[in-house]
Amino acid sequence: MEHHGFHVTVFEKIKHFMRLGDSLGLGENALKLLKRWGLHEQLIRIGNRSPDMHIRRWDNGRVLATQPLMDMAGYIGHRGDYHQAFLDRVAEVGIKVRMGHNVNGTKVVSFNEDKPSVTLEDGREFEADIIIGADGIKSQTRELVLGFADKPKSSGYACYRAYFKGDILRDIPQCQPIVQRDCVNIWIGPDMHLVQNTLRDGEEFNWILTHRDDEDIAESWFQPGDMNKVRELVKDWDPMIVSAVNVTPSCLDWKICYRDPISTWVSASHKVALLGDSCHAHLPTSAQGASQATESAAVLALCLKLAGKENVPLATRVYEKLRFERVRQAQLNGEDVRDRWHSCLKDLDGGKEIDPDDVKMKNRWLYAFDAEKDTLARWAEVSTIVQKELDENRITPLFDSLTGPIRELELYDAFGNRKTDSTKYVQKQQQ
Ligand SMILES: Cc1cc2nc3c(=O)[nH]c(=O)nc-3n(C[C@H](O)[C@H](O)[C@H](O)COP(=O)(O)OP(=O)(O)OC[C@H]3O[C@@H](n4cnc5c(N)ncnc54)[C@H](O)[C@@H]3O)c2cc1C
Repeated sequence: MEHHGFHVTVFEKIKHFMRLGDSLGLGENALKLLKRWGLHEQLIRIGNRSPDMHIRRWDNGRVLATQPLMDMAGYIGHRGDYHQAFLDRVAEVGIKVRMGHNVNGTKVVSFNEDKPSVTLEDGREFEADIIIGADGIKSQTRELVLGFADKPKSSGYACYRAYFKGDILRDIPQCQPIVQRDCVNIWIGPDMHLVQNTLRDGEEFNWILTHRDDEDIAESWFQPGDMNKVRELVKDWDPMIVSAVNVTPSCLDWKICYRDPISTWVSASHKVALLGDSCHAHLPTSAQGASQATESAAVLALCLKLAGKENVPLATRVYEKLRFERVRQAQLNGEDVRDRWHSCLKDLDGGKEIDPDDVKMKNRWLYAFDAEKDTLARWAEVSTIVQKELDENRITPLFDSLTGPIRELELYDAFGNRKTDSTKYVQKQQQ
């Protein structure tokens, strides 16, 4: 937004940012945008430098497929380090971030979608031309936009997540291959997989074990996990990773929840828009949560520039139409790879070969895409459709469960090019 000349104020409810979470990936699709906004070298320095990742059998560690990391998650680094790099850049260009420690009560507690304005915990109200609800997976803005509380559903899976100093593994012979230099490995087995990566040649070490879980515990980045349960789950796995898990001091238990796609990302007044996890959270296996949030930011800002700030409704409604299908496919990719990893070795004994393509991540099509170029190319066509919808006061919903699975549309080819035009998509939605 700032890059396109808008004046931005951020309200963040917490008092101080901390180095929370563990690894996330930033793909080339996000990095090409971030480069234009003055953030590139500092981000690349953070990420894991392994050229490839290996997908291995759960029991003996045999490599089933090797894939360039740039085809998978891009640069994998600590979420807190990426976050700090973003904050440094935000400070450099002078964007105001009102944190809980500067001013009491920076939590947004209510909205007036017509002005539009936000009201903070301490009662102060701030008006703007547009309100963007980038308030994460437990978004309050989402409830305003939908008009009801949209509770998450269990995905049937949870992750145990551990992040620690690699030093404790350096003297363990079995761990040498995974702690000596930067690497990314994924062990796959029936209904489970474990992703491991290092940072700075093993200085820091991360593993994330995804397993079946139907327990109804709230989604939280702070819920401690039981290491005894983790050790029991992987006790018969490849000794290389079991040795690392066995000495891991602690972990978090993170429930993976689903949110169904929603029919609108924009409020009825068209002046409050959702962005990032508030409207399109991804499964970890999509490796695209932060990257898709970055793309959405690029598209919304450019739409506002093209529409002009006096025409926010046109901008927000074009934004959601430009973004929905691509985001949906990125989300479905995450489900597809998880299901392939969890099923392909079922009933298959250790000696049998599988086709490496059956276990590879299929994210390549996501990386070539340039969200800003795509917006410029499609603006005229989609803004004409949207203007008509606004004139007739009849906005087509983004998603309706009756229209059938979007997967059938296959909107992008392997190189990130659109296969169909937006008119067809809108027509399908209207059927
Ligand atoms: C603590 C934490 C740890 C995470 N760890 C990982 C990880 O290890 N790996 C991974 O892949 N992804 C992780 N994620 C998710 C990842 O950061 C997001 O998928 C991605 O960055 C997209 O972010 P977003 O901006 O949409 O939402 P978020 O990154 O969740 O940011 C939302 C922000 O809005 C603030 N907020 C919420 N409600 C209000 C309100 N009412 N008023 C003011 N401020 C509000 C929150 O404090 C938060 O800072 C984590 C998220 C969190 C919050």
